[in-house]
This record gives sequence, C-alpha cells and structure tokens, in this order.
Amino acid sequence: MTSLADIRSTFLNYYGRQDHEVVASSPLVPRNDPTLMFTNSGMVQFKNLFTGLENRDYQRATSAQKCVRAGGKHNDLDNVGYTARHHTFFEMLGNFSFGDYFKDDAIAFAWELLTRDFGLNKDKLLVTVYHTDDEAAEIWKKVGGFGDDRIIRIPTDDNFWRMGPTGPCGPCTEIFYDHGDHIWGGPPGSAEEDGDRFIEIWNLVFMQNEQFEDGTMRPLDMQSIDTGMGLERIGALLQGKHDNYDTDLMRALIEASAHATSSDPDGPGKVHHRVIADHLRATSFLIAEGVLPSNEGRGYVLRRIMRRAMRHAHQLGAADPLMHRLVPALVQEMGAAYPELGQGKALIEETLKNEEVRFRQTLDRGLKLLDDELAQLPDDADLPGETAFKLYDTYGFPLDLTQDALREKGRVVNTDGFDSAMAAQKAKARAAWSGSGEQADASVWFDIADKSGTTDFLGYETLNAEGQI
Ligand code: ATP
Ligand code: MG
Ligand code: MG
Ligand code: MG
Repeated sequence: MTSLADIRSTFLNYYGRQDHEVVASSPLVPRNDPTLMFTNSGMVQFKNLFTGLENRDYQRATSAQKCVRAGGKHNDLDNVGYTARHHTFFEMLGNFSFGDYFKDDAIAFAWELLTRDFGLNKDKLLVTVYHTDDEAAEIWKKVGGFGDDRIIRIPTDDNFWRMGPTGPCGPCTEIFYDHGDHIWGGPPGSAEEDGDRFIEIWNLVFMQNEQFEDGTMRPLDMQSIDTGMGLERIGALLQGKHDNYDTDLMRALIEASAHATSSDPDGPGKVHHRVIADHLRATSFLIAEGVLPSNEGRGYVLRRIMRRAMRHAHQLGAADPLMHRLVPALVQEMGAAYPELGQGKALIEETLKNEEVRFRQTLDRGLKLLDDELAQLPDDADLPGETAFKLYDTYGFPLDLTQDALREKGRVVNTDGFDSAMAAQKAKARAAWSGSGEQADASVWFDIADKSGTTDFLGYETLNAEGQI
C-alpha cells in the first residue's frame, strides 16, 4: 500500500526534478501575516514572492504545508466527522511559480504526475475552469484529451481566486475525481455538489490579474502559479478508498481512539472516533508550536477544538481524560515527517490532560443541563440563546460545541439570542467596572478581559483578509 509518506515524497521529488526548490512547511502560526489566524494553504509563506515584495534565488518552489482550517473564511470544523474529505488539520501539497512558468506547464505537470506517476485512471477525472478562461479549457483538451463534457465552466468565485480585497488574483482550475454513482453527490456546479461522489483533489490557481482599490483589475506583469492538493485526499484515492478517514494514517488514530475507549471503531460511535482522530492532529500540531488554550485569539480556537473533541470522548463513555493517551499513536504515525511532534510530546500530553481534567469538571453538568432544557422544549424548537450562553459562561462550552452536540439531535441554537445574552453580560460587566470606584476588583477586570477577548476573536475571524487558494 502506498503510504501518505510515500505520496508526499513522490510529489516533492517530482517537482524537484522539474527544478523546483523543495521548501519545508512553514509554521501554522504565520510569521509574515498577523491578519491570518492560521496558515490555511501552501501559498501563505510565499505571499511576498507573488506580490514581488520579496525575491529569493529560486522562481519555482514545492512544499508539503501544514494547514489548519478551523476559523475565518475557510472553516471546516463543522464538516469534520460528517464528510469524507474534510479535516481541520491537513497537509497541502503544492507547486509554485513566481513569474516563471504559467498555465501550460502547470496543467501539464499536474496531469503527468496524476496519471503517470500516481497512475490514476483518466476516465474518472474531470475538471472545472473559470467560465471565461478559454485558454485553460484549450490546454485541458490538448493535455488531458478531455471533451467539453468533462470541462465544467464555473461562473462563481469558486473558480476565481483572490489573495485579498486587493492584490493578485485570477482564475483557477480544479481537478475532481468521480468515485461512482453508488455515492451521493453531483458534479461541481450542480445542486448536489456538496455530496462526496465528486471529490476535489487539486486546485491550480493562475495569478494573472491585480485588483485595485478603485475596483479596476489589470493584467499582472509577473504571472504566477499557486497550486494545492490535499495529501489525505490523494492518499485516499491511491489507497483505493473513498474516505480520507480510511487512509492508513487516519485509521491508526481512529483505532487508537477505539482501543482506548474499548469501543468499536465502526460502530455507533464512528463519528466520535473520526472527530477525535482529526482534532487530535490539529490540537497536537498547534500545541507543538507553542499555541496554548486560552480565551482569546488563536488560543481560543485551540480550546474550541480541544473541548469539542473532549465532548466526543465523553459521548464514547470515556471515564478518564482520553486525548493525551492518543498522542503516542500520533507521534508514531507522523513524528518522522514532523519532528516537532516528538519534541513537543510531553507538552502536548500535559496540555491536553490539564484541559480535559478541567473541562470534565463542568462538562457532565453542562450536558445534563442541555438535556433537561431540551426535554422541556417542543421537538422542533431551537435551543434558546440564553441557555447556550449559560453553557458558555458557566460551563465553558464554546458555542460551536453546543451546536455540535445539538446536531446529533437535529436541533439548532437561536444564535441571535446567544449574541444578545453575550451583549447584556458585557454591559453588566462594564457597569460593574465603572461603579467599583478607584480600587477595581481584579476579578471583574479578568472577567471583562475574558469576555471581550472572545468577542475580539469573533471580529478578528470575520475581518481578516486571508490569502488562500
Ligand atoms: P472543498 O471544496 O472540498 O472544501 P476547497 O475548495 O475549500 O475544498 P482549496 O481551498 O481549493 O479547497 O484547497 C486546495 C486543496 O486542499 C483542495 O483541492 C483539497 O485537496 C485540499 N483541502 C482543502 N480543504 C481541506 C480540508 N479541510 N481537509 C483536507 N483537505 C482539504
Ligand atoms: Mg472548502
Ligand atoms: Mg472547493
Ligand atoms: Mg478548491
């Protein structure tokens, strides 16, 4: 069986042979972009090369980049456990041209790698192009021998990439694999495209324009290429699987979770194991980089992912903290490619354990409160926002955790109610602050800091201009 490690090196070696500099993954906490929460694509570390702000002694690069998509424009938290293809942490394989080769070579390289080196069946592949990008369509006909029926023209922003509100932008072409009509889903652009029958494996971006503040767009002097392919997705294909979670690596983590909870990996707790396996990776990689759980910014995203996983562990009946016990399995699977995991093992285990010990003090009671509230509501009623707020404020349930818990029961939170309860709480804290005289009580201050920290984070999440594929 082709392991994910083999696929990673086949990819990097292929582009290395095409004169690409093999560049190591950059950290998940971006060094060059304070507006971005986490690195969410391979191009992030190369942003300044695309804009021409920076030059290096190479014009072609390739990388396997650690990515997290659990906030901001790309938030896959809610997909995890439910789709076959999404993780919060994943690796993106990419090749990049900074003003060097363009569409012809980018498509030809991708095609050769997929169909020759990886041996994918051409008849199962189809592509999308931006509706006006005749050039890309022509290249696909020539290179891949595609007819018009397998080149889908998409008029939406799904096939038009932008680095941000201004700056480099351009059309993209995406390569999809058809897993067959026994799986629900339709081709890209159709009403059923969110299904998992047609799985997007690779996105090739053609940076050919620059967007200006006044709304105009002009052709770039320096045309560039930015591509991204999910390692776990190509891995599933090459291992003859449909689902990313059936690849060797994810399966080992799922089995570790099943073993530690004495449960069946494919039984009724299947979704829990998938979420735990995914969140174990995301949280461990973040902690290995020194991100620690907190109530604001990156630390709060980490806390949300951790606590979410911990509720799933609780649902499996885990009597003791679970997550830290799975770290050795992760180090075993990924430590060779990512030495920071082995180096950070003790810190990761300790951080996961402390958080789980702490959260378990309120988790049980919070879930009981949730069940009691639901029992009193009509079957189709939304959970009142005040209840979700109480769970957040008193029991430490991030809103998305409550939403995740309700999803299993087909229920949702009244988020407007949640927002107004949060606003009322902040107003109260402010009043307490101004009324407390010169010697303010420190606990009030920390309370305000905690709450506004969380709110800042929500704003931050929506305001950032992300560079992503
Ligand atoms: P999708 O439509 O399936 O959510 P996307 O269009 O958001 O994917 P891109 O932003 O184009 O993905 O990222 C480039 C590639 O990275 C994708 O083609 C896919 O192979 C991979 N990828 C994206 N998001 C994820 C994820 N959450 N988990 C695993 N792989 C991913
Ligand atoms: Mg997506
Ligand atoms: Mg997509
Ligand atoms: Mg895409």
